Amino acid sequence: MNAAVGNSIVLDNLWKTYGSFVAVGGVSLSIEAGKFCTILGPSGSGKTTVLMMLAGFSDPLRGSIRIDGNDVTRLPPQKRDLGVVFQNYALFPHMTVHDNVAFPLKMRGMNAAEINLKCSRMLDTVELGSLSRRYPRELSGGQQQRVALARALVFEPRVLLMDEPLGALDKRLRASLQVELKALQRRMDVTVVYVTHDQEEALTMADQVVIMNGGQIEQCGTADELYDQPMTEFVAGFMGDTNLIEGVVTGKGGDGVTRVEHPTGRAILAQNGPCAVGDQVSVSLRPECVSLEPCKGRLPEEPNAWNGRITNVVSLGDALRYTIVIGENRPTLQIELEAKISRRGAHGSRFSQGEAVRVHWNAADARALARRKR
Ligand code: ADP
Ligand code: MG
Repeated sequence: MNAAVGNSIVLDNLWKTYGSFVAVGGVSLSIEAGKFCTILGPSGSGKTTVLMMLAGFSDPLRGSIRIDGNDVTRLPPQKRDLGVVFQNYALFPHMTVHDNVAFPLKMRGMNAAEINLKCSRMLDTVELGSLSRRYPRELSGGQQQRVALARALVFEPRVLLMDEPLGALDKRLRASLQVELKALQRRMDVTVVYVTHDQEEALTMADQVVIMNGGQIEQCGTADELYDQPMTEFVAGFMGDTNLIEGVVTGKGGDGVTRVEHPTGRAILAQNGPCAVGDQVSVSLRPECVSLEPCKGRLPEEPNAWNGRITNVVSLGDALRYTIVIGENRPTLQIELEAKISRRGAHGSRFSQGEAVRVHWNAADARALARRKR
């Protein structure tokens, strides 16, 4: 068994500025020991800056950092007991795989026998045992990244920090390393803080996802919470695709249903979310939550049941994506249906471009989000 157990991390109101530019503006975050936390956000949102402050490579203007309950805000990086893997964290080109992995142990003054034992165990863990005598240039990108991982983990840190470590790899390799990384984290019981702009990566590995935007945390939760209960328009759009329909809240019922009026006067019913009566909102409606039927004649429209016309059909393999224009001044909706239920009846034809259709959805699947006041 491994002796190392992950440490908890607490960031309290961290700020970082460059001149008058606020790169990180008051980030507070708590990560439980042994959890996999992913910081997700677009380029420039402050992810790397947060990680650099946590690692000790950059001083915060304000705020504090605690690891395992101890204030490390002013400690140098080597005293924080962290493993670090960055996208461009180059291996030493003139050293073999074994010597690269041995390096942090040598720096810690460990004796040769112990170093060899720990290195070969670690290389077995990342399945590179047979390549220990090779040089970095003799390895594939994925193998090099596993060496970097082995080097970051060999001294059994309680916390592993990673900044877009798989960004340079192709999609297939990324997917397989994600699975390996998650298994390794569980096995070694280490706390991971993982930075990425790729939402799929966040979904695969994270226990906790933190969404950053403009130097601040927009929302923090499990991937499912962020997908099903986004608190802002930004989160709804960043975690998966969504339709955002504008409107004003005209009522919030005790039945858990929020009533929104679209500029055309049509009603939208949504689940009660973060908004109040009178708020300008965007109603988030996931493409897979909308149903479609052929529209025979002109049925009267109702809340959550609108008439429209298909203007585009795209096949996604196992699903079909329809673009539907609801009418003049009304929204365009993106709808996704599984290929097999996109037919009218078991042997019916698919809906086709130009066809008149009726779209409808359940209030529970729509979420009204107050527009941010800027
Ligand atoms: P992310 O990792 O989310 O892409 P960063 O944390 O690298 O974002 O950067 C956040 C913001 O801070 C960006 O707008 C970036 O240009 C700015 N920034 C980062 N480092 C510096 C620096 N050394 N000097 C000036 N601005 C910087
Ligand atoms: Mg970055």
